Amino acid sequence: MNCPLCSKNSERAFETHGFWLRDCVACRHRFTEISADEAHVSEIYDDSYFTGGGAGYSDYAQEAEMLRKRGRMYAEKLAKYAHKPGRMLDVGAAAGFILQGFADKNWSGTGLEPNENIAKIGREQFNSDIRRGSLESFETNEKFDLISMIQVVAHFYDPRKAFEKARSLLNENGFLLIETWNRDSFSARIFGKNWHEYSPPSVLQWFSLAGLTEFLNNFGFEKIAHGRPSKKISGAHAKSLLKYRLGDNYLLNLIPDKFSFPYPSEDLFWALYKKK
Ligand SMILES: [Zn+2]
Repeated sequence: MNCPLCSKNSERAFETHGFWLRDCVACRHRFTEISADEAHVSEIYDDSYFTGGGAGYSDYAQEAEMLRKRGRMYAEKLAKYAHKPGRMLDVGAAAGFILQGFADKNWSGTGLEPNENIAKIGREQFNSDIRRGSLESFETNEKFDLISMIQVVAHFYDPRKAFEKARSLLNENGFLLIETWNRDSFSARIFGKNWHEYSPPSVLQWFSLAGLTEFLNNFGFEKIAHGRPSKKISGAHAKSLLKYRLGDNYLLNLIPDKFSFPYPSEDLFWALYKKK
């Protein structure tokens, strides 16, 4: 099986959740051995991903305010590099909470969301422009000043196609903002194959900052900033993740749903790229 980034050979690394993870022999990219297609995308992101727990969100609506703050936080970071707010495309937008955070800082934009029910909530309840679909199959004549991918790139089934599309949709000097899990992080190394993000088939690609940057250089993207997001998650989300790892445990019920606490973001990174 060839590497989805550089097309060189790969070898099996280890098996988890019934899937083999493979490592590229050339660029070291790690990915799931799977033949994914659009059907796979809609299958993973059906309603249960957002409402049924498991590797997704136990109650997406509860994340709303936190995601909105996150959008504002990134808009503030971007203000150092962009002359003025512009038009953005948020990939994997769900009901549009990240977009709302950017809108608080005068950005306007469109969201892309594979799950129609969630997209509909965004359109009808929050009056956001959320369209159903994936980046790979998105067709538009519009160009954007920013494309944001917050916890999205790990789920791409065809990263090359996705980033080629991203490049074609961006204006000259447009920005690409990515937040994803860091497979070179301390926790990823300590936990090895038990790292919580090795959860195929919801997650398909595992990047490092260096690997992602090298890959994006080939698409004409230059890294201009990076860092680690600080993240707060709700008790409901934390419980759903812990249940997924540990199984049902009555102690987990002691965590209040509405209580939010900082999540160790040591294994997450964000990076801002500019189209050259
Ligand atoms: Zn490779």
